[in-house]
Amino acid sequence: MDATFTTGKELQKMDPVFGQLSFDDHEQVVFCNDKDTGLKAIIGIHNSVMGPALGGTRMFNYATEWDALNDVLRLSRGMTYKAAITGLDIGGGKAVILGDAKTQKTPELMRKFGEFVHSLSGRYITAEDVGMETSDMDTVRDVTPYVTGISESRGGSGNPSPVTAFGVYMGMKAAAKQQFGSDVLAGKKVLVQGIGHVGENLVDYLTKEGAVVTIADINQEKLYEVSSKYNAKIFTGADLYTADVDIYAPCAMGATINDDTVYKINAKVIAGAANNQLANENVHGAILQERGILYAPDFLINAGGIINVYAEIAHYDKAEIMRRTENIYNTTLEIFDYAIKNGMTTYKAALTIAQNRINQRKIENSKK
Ligand code: NAD
Repeated sequence: MDATFTTGKELQKMDPVFGQLSFDDHEQVVFCNDKDTGLKAIIGIHNSVMGPALGGTRMFNYATEWDALNDVLRLSRGMTYKAAITGLDIGGGKAVILGDAKTQKTPELMRKFGEFVHSLSGRYITAEDVGMETSDMDTVRDVTPYVTGISESRGGSGNPSPVTAFGVYMGMKAAAKQQFGSDVLAGKKVLVQGIGHVGENLVDYLTKEGAVVTIADINQEKLYEVSSKYNAKIFTGADLYTADVDIYAPCAMGATINDDTVYKINAKVIAGAANNQLANENVHGAILQERGILYAPDFLINAGGIINVYAEIAHYDKAEIMRRTENIYNTTLEIFDYAIKNGMTTYKAALTIAQNRINQRKIENSKK
C-alpha cells in the first residue's frame, strides 16, 4: 500500500513491470496499439474489489513511454482509494493515450480506443481527464457502453469538472476550519495553479465568497480571460511556490510538491484538484506535516468528478450528486481527526481508511 513512487526515468532502471513500485498490486495493465489511427494507449486496472474499475482517460504528450506507464499506474491506483474513501461501489482504473490532444486526437483514434475499452467487457469504464472533452466520450460511446461523462443529450451527466471544483471548494473549507479555526474563505489569500476546467470553476466559488485569488497558468490567453472575468490577480513573481498566500490550490498536473518545492511553500494549507500532488507521498507528506502545512488529500477532495460520472451507473440525480460532493467537507474533517489520533500524515490517514474499507469488502465478497 505504501508505494514510493518513481519517475519514469527511475522506473526504466528497475524490473520492467511487476518489480516496479508504481505497479503496486495492479490487477491488469493493457497496452493498446493501432498503427492505422496512431493510437498508443495504456489502460491500468488497479483494483476491482469494490466494483468495476472506473476512471478517466488522459491524453498527454509524455516525454517517454515510461513516463506514460508511470502516470497511468499512479493515476489508476489513486482511483481505487478515491472511490473507496468516497464510499462508491467501484474499483480503480485509468487510461492514458500517448500524444498531443490538440494535434493528434481524431474521431478515428477515439473510436479505436473505445474498441479497446469494449474488449475488457466492462472491467474498465472510462470517462474524461486532461486532454479529453465530453464530445470525445460521445465518440467512445458510439462503440462501447463502458463510458461515462457523455453529454446530457445522450443520457450522460456531462462535464464533471464543475462538480469536481465544488468538492475541492468543500475540502478547502474543511482544511481552513482545521488550520485557521474557521471555514470562511473571505479575505483568505488563495493561489490557484492551473485554471482549466476545474481551476476556473474553483476560482468562481472562491471569488464569490470573497477570497483574494491569485492565478497561475502556462496558457497566457486563459490567464487574461479568467483574470478579467473573476477579478483575480495574475501571479507575476519568479517562483509561485514562494508566493505569500494562505492556501495553495494545485489544479494543473501532479507532483508539484516535490524535493524542489516542498521547503519553499509558504501557504499553510494545500487543497487542490490535481491528482498525485505529492511526488513521493511518504516523504513529501511527512515534510509538509513537519512544516505545519495542512495537506487535504487530493484523491479525497477531488472526488466530485467521480461522484458525478458514477451517477451514470448508479442512477442518482443531480441533488444527490451535490449532496454527496458537499459531504467531502465532513469526510475531510474526519480524516484530519483520524490523522491526529493515529499520529500519521493526513495522506496516510485517508489511504488507511480507504484500504480498510477495501479489505472489509474483500472479506464480504469471499463469503458470497
Ligand atoms: P485542464 O486540462 O482543463 O486544465 C489544466 C490547466 O493547467 C490548463 O489550463 C493548463 O494550461 C494548466 N497547466 C498545465 N501545466 C501547467 C503548469 N506547469 N503550470 C501552470 N498551469 C499549468 O484539466 P482539468 O480537468 O481542469 O484538471 C486539472 C487537474 O485536476 C488534473 O490534474 C486532473 O487530473 C485533476 N482532476 C480533474 C477532474 C475533473 O473533473 N476534470 C477530476 C479529478 C481530478
